[in-house]
Amino acid sequence: PAPQHPFALLDLDTLIDDEEKAIRDVVRQYVDDRIKPEVGDWFETGSIPAKELAQEMGALGLLGMHLEGYGCAGTSATAYGLACLELEAGDSGIRSLVSVQGSLAMYAIHAFGSEEQKTEWLPRMAAGEAIGCFGLTEPDFGSNPSGMRTAAKRDGDDWVLNGTKMWITNGTVADVAVVWAQTDGGIRGFVVPTSTPGFTAREIHKKLSLRASVTAELILEDVRLPASAVLPDVKGLRGPLSCLNEARFGIAFGTIGAARDCLETAISYSIDREQFDRPIAGFQLTQKKLADMALELDKGYLLALHLGRLKDKHVIRPEQISVGKLNNAREALAIARECRSILGGNGITLEYPIIRHMNNLESVFTYEGTNEMHTLVVGEALTGLAAYRG
Ligand code: FAD
Repeated sequence: PAPQHPFALLDLDTLIDDEEKAIRDVVRQYVDDRIKPEVGDWFETGSIPAKELAQEMGALGLLGMHLEGYGCAGTSATAYGLACLELEAGDSGIRSLVSVQGSLAMYAIHAFGSEEQKTEWLPRMAAGEAIGCFGLTEPDFGSNPSGMRTAAKRDGDDWVLNGTKMWITNGTVADVAVVWAQTDGGIRGFVVPTSTPGFTAREIHKKLSLRASVTAELILEDVRLPASAVLPDVKGLRGPLSCLNEARFGIAFGTIGAARDCLETAISYSIDREQFDRPIAGFQLTQKKLADMALELDKGYLLALHLGRLKDKHVIRPEQISVGKLNNAREALAIARECRSILGGNGITLEYPIIRHMNNLESVFTYEGTNEMHTLVVGEALTGLAAYRG
């Protein structure tokens, strides 16, 4: 019999409708034509044409695509998830660019911004003419952002921001930063044009993961903003955490894309590669690896689709998104490592996508809430006991 694609094993295409398939196919084509041929080089050199890519993906309607109005495409959450899946089949860094733009920066402005902030930024961000970043993490506060030191103080009507943000995706290419800071009234979000005096972004070098993605440190030194810069409609950690839920939802899908690309590569390689006078795919040990990975891939995809349907019905809960992020990032990483072994020596070069996905997934395992933090969210949901603090 002819080899079947892992998704065909369970006829998983029957779970998505024609419009979702059409969106998926457009993104897959873009990734095949534009991203896959070049991303190995971008990863190797640690540089991407971020502005160009943002404009191209804006023209395709991929930026803030599940948001309504202000030039956004207004698709279903599931369609957005499928787009993330296809983008991450290209590279987790490209999906990160889109996630940070749409689910973090644009979502924050869309959900909590003033009418003036929305009309100023969202149409340009949807078109990819302006890039956004999202500054929550600090050098000393990652998993526990409630301790953040970045502070915004009033000076007359103005706000003055001081502090440092760390690991900020899109940082040096951003036109606008959504920055979270402590105020006398708790944590608030600020819309900061990156051209404001006192704002500096420094790229983080020597990364061995997400190399086809810009990661930066943001330094805010007496950044003076008008009263209108604060996001008016949210106070406290609920603001950044609801943005993170949006992005984590996309990661539950995206990681399946990276894993799918690894498994497709490993299956075709193992069919072509001969040792001991037969394809290595014909050995039972290889088949066990492939079968186990196809099971996890398909289960992860089913989980992501289920979350998509819950989100489209507006009934999804944060711990459900944690289940998706925790499971799919973990299993995608395990799949990438196993696929790497099937390629033998060839598995360690950028000639094949697997080790790039594998290294990228180490970041995805950690960002947007670490594997451990999501485990604790699920643990709390199951027991009613929060175990974050001693
Ligand atoms: P820590 O919080 O110091 O954690 C270290 C380890 O301790 C982890 O294993 C963690 O799970 C564990 N740990 C911590 N607390 C507990 C506990 N209570 N119980 C058990 N274990 C615990 N942030 C942004 O704001 N914007 C971005 O755009 C962004 N992009 C990123 C891009 C990349 C490539 C990377 C690597 C990170 C990015 N981040 C971003 C930051 C990311 O969200 C943080 O790295 C993450 O939240 C973890 O924080 P930390 O690195 O400080 O690790």
